[in-house]
Amino acid sequence: MHLEKNALKGESGFILDGFPRTTRQAEILEQVTEINLVINLRIREDVLLQKCLGRRICSQCGNNYNVASINIEAKDGHPAIYMAPLLPPPSCVSKLITRADDTEEVVKERLRVYHDKSRPVEEFYRSRGKLLEFELPGGIPESWPKLLAALNIEEHDSKQRLAA
Ligand SMILES: [Zn+2]
Repeated sequence: MHLEKNALKGESGFILDGFPRTTRQAEILEQVTEINLVINLRIREDVLLQKCLGRRICSQCGNNYNVASINIEAKDGHPAIYMAPLLPPPSCVSKLITRADDTEEVVKERLRVYHDKSRPVEEFYRSRGKLLEFELPGGIPESWPKLLAALNIEEHDSKQRLAA
């Protein structure tokens, strides 16, 4: 995502999403460009687990839904978390299936593998003072304004400034 306004002024900026995934990649990236900030999006693992286990697919039309409804109050300095379910229309309700690998055991293993891989990368950027930890307060509608606020970016000029 390039910042249009700054690009017009000759500045270039970009956002990498989900990269680098290893410290080796991070080291290589450091040699080719300067990374200003790394945002580590975090969410409580029990919420993530609930959302993963709430996934449903319609066996007839193939549409994806999520029956998990998350509504947790703020506590001990952690933000409230709200994530609305994505409920199926009546025509799909009786045809919902759960993917075979969306079990608690498999999801927990996926999360464990993810954390093992990402921890060294987080540490790489933390040690360089470039890591911003951001605890997600929910889905995209809940998170976006708060993320912009954390970055001191106004909603109306986010398109111009976010990639700076
Ligand atoms: Zn359907």
